[in-house]
Order: sequence, then structure tokens, then C-alpha cells
Amino acid sequence: MTWIDAHCHPDALSDPDGAFSEAQAAGIGQWILPGTEPQQWRAAGQRFSSDSRIRLAFGHHPWFLPNSEPDLSALQAMLSDYPPCIALGEIGLDFHQGKTPKAAPELQERWFEAQLAMAAEHRLPVIVHAVKAHDRVLALLKHYPDVRGVVHAFLGPYQQARAYLDKGWYLGCGSLILKSAKTREAFAQMPVDRILLETDAPDMRPMQPQHTNPLLDLLQTADCLAQARSISLAILMAHTSANVRQLFQKF
Ligand SMILES: [Zn+2]
Repeated sequence: MTWIDAHCHPDALSDPDGAFSEAQAAGIGQWILPGTEPQQWRAAGQRFSSDSRIRLAFGHHPWFLPNSEPDLSALQAMLSDYPPCIALGEIGLDFHQGKTPKAAPELQERWFEAQLAMAAEHRLPVIVHAVKAHDRVLALLKHYPDVRGVVHAFLGPYQQARAYLDKGWYLGCGSLILKSAKTREAFAQMPVDRILLETDAPDMRPMQPQHTNPLLDLLQTADCLAQARSISLAILMAHTSANVRQLFQKF
């Protein structure tokens, strides 16, 4: 058995093949690559769809929405061209007023909801990016009780995790756990059968990365989570791998 990285963007690395090989030698064997926008989906589809270690998802990420009403025709075409697509993602809401300009919250919500409806129609799980928007994400999810998914790079607190867990959802544990006591406490408390491990590589590095290859950050995150829960790495690997297969039926 190997580790599974449930969320990463190695297509943004200068040498993805080298990074995969090095990570594989270190015990990480499979990767889920969520999509961000149509050009990226097509490039990832061409480059990675025949690699048996990699699974692809496609979705309109809230950072890359066109400034126009939802139009899912390109996404629909990807699902037809790449039926192994395991999920819609990453999709979601990001209301953080950072330096990246983003679509207005109302427009983000319309795109998010259109993609949730599509996920329900295709019986696909979703990979959700939610920043300063959990209340709205949870409110919109009420309209789609059959859609399950993962909130990636979950920050905490546990109380917020509880709202997703009650819906049968999963939480993605990334390197935030190395920096934040709130995140560590949330992931120490929640059921181990609802946790996915991820790097979000190359976006979210630990404060003191042990390697130049960001795919290897998964091992640091796994160590920290296993310690926080007082379980062995072998048990953590068994659970988190089973969780991926449970959520992503086409994995
Ligand atoms: Zn991501």
C-alpha cells in the first residue's frame, strides 16, 4: 500500500515527472489532480490521462471564473471526452479579499450552484475550495443533499468540520496542520474515516519544508496527523486510502 495525495497541482511544477518519480520512491503512489479552468483541464487531460497513477477532476475554480453567467458547456464536453474523470473540482467559494481579483460573491455562488447541480445529475462527488465562505457553502449544499465531497485544505475549527461530517462529507488535511493548533485539534477529533491527505502542491508549502519537491510534503503532514491522533502511520495510510476509494467511486 502507498500514500494517496488527494489534492495537488503538479502540472504547475517545472518537472512533474521527476517529482512523481521521487515521491513514488518515497512511498506516495497515487495522486488526484483537480482542475481549475478549461485550458488547464485540456492540458492535464492530454498530459496525464494515460498515467495509471493519476486521477483527474475538472471544475471551474472560484479564482478563475469568467466574469459572466455560468456556462458549463466546456465542462460538459470534458466529462464526455474524459469519462474517467472522478469528480467535479475544484469548485467553491472564496470571499477572501486578497491580492487575487475574484468574481463577485453572488456570481461565484451561481457558478458553484450550477456545478453542484451538474454533480448531482452525473452522480459525481465534488472537491470544494472554501475560504471565508463556509456558511454559504453549507447553505447551498442543503439544496443538494445527495452530493458528497471533500472540503480541501480544511483549516478548522472542529465545530465547522462537524457541519460537513453530519452531511457525510470528508475534510482534506494539508500542511496547514503543521502551522495551526486549531487545524491540528480539528483533525485530531474528527473520525479517521473522513480524512483525506493532500499537499495542494505547489501552492501550500509547510513553513519549514524538508524537501524541494512539494509532493513530499505529504509525508510531513501524515507524520503530524498520526502524532496528533496517536495512531501509527500504517493505520493512517490504510484509513486515508480507503477514504479516497469510498468518496471517489471511480478512483
Ligand atoms: Zn487546489
